[in-house]
Amino acid sequence: MKKIAFIGLGVMGYPMAGHLAKAGYQVTVYNRTTAKAMQWAHEFENSFAKTPKQAAEDADIVFACVGNDDDVRQVALGEEGIFAGLKAGGVFVDHTTASAELARELNQVALAQGKHFIDAPVSGGQAGAENGQLTVMCGGEQKIFVQLQPVMTAFAKFSQLMGPAGNGQIAKMANQICIAGLVQGLSEALNFAQRAGLDTDKLIETISKGAAGSWQMENRHKTMCAGEYDFGFAVDWMRKDLAITFSEAKKYDAKLPVTEMVDGFYEQIQENGGNRFDTSSLISLLKK
Ligand code: NAP
Repeated sequence: MKKIAFIGLGVMGYPMAGHLAKAGYQVTVYNRTTAKAMQWAHEFENSFAKTPKQAAEDADIVFACVGNDDDVRQVALGEEGIFAGLKAGGVFVDHTTASAELARELNQVALAQGKHFIDAPVSGGQAGAENGQLTVMCGGEQKIFVQLQPVMTAFAKFSQLMGPAGNGQIAKMANQICIAGLVQGLSEALNFAQRAGLDTDKLIETISKGAAGSWQMENRHKTMCAGEYDFGFAVDWMRKDLAITFSEAKKYDAKLPVTEMVDGFYEQIQENGGNRFDTSSLISLLKK
């Protein structure tokens, strides 16, 4: 049985690490705020470490899910970082949504030390993490991905290798581009229908069965109409994801006109104090 370390017990990491423990793996967790690591170790009857290095020592696979590029660097590199503890042949899997550049850089660090790196951002949100139903987009070596895939089934319903290191992050960027345009379109449709006096429940019951249907439409239309935006992925996180998307897109001269416009709307939501609103809060700008 593989020994596992999990670094970062946030909204996503806490339940993901929990699923690994429930699947029977021996899991050692690390969290910057130690109280959360202690709580996790108590709840799932496994252990916690005081540094990422300590957690990684003895592990075959180290998973991480922290905030952004800087946070990944802090837990991965340096004297107390993951690489300092990970044994030769060990695998570091980063579930953080971060830049493709960082993934390529960490892959080089891993290879230079005889270790392996997989970038593995996820989609499916808090509910997906809690229900063990995430989708994982991976970049890295095929032979390592094949070994990793059965372990990730503890928290994922689907995982795919998208190519070399960095390609998992690029897949996640494409995912966020889709979501940005889609949620704005849905916001405009719901606002339009409400102002025209339509029964929006009836409307969605009808159009969700056709070509306009989407996960966002089915799961968020009621709360969007009610002006409730406390259902998962925060505007601050989305802007972080779109920023790395824009800088990656520049390299290929890929135009993202709608995504840029929607990013501007998210910026307005932040200016209105909605940093922790979920991404469906785009409709709030139309309700004024
Ligand atoms: P979160 O709840 O804010 O948790 C972040 C975790 O990272 C916490 O455990 C935090 O430790 C730790 N952390 C942050 N900066 C750190 C640093 N510099 N050094 C050490 N630990 C650090 O975030 P989340 O919602 O779980 O999201 C994690 C990642 O998944 C992000 O990249 C996000 O974009 C991505 N993601 C999130 C969702 C979602 O719906 N939430 C969906 C898909 C992808 P503390 O407990 O000490 O703060």
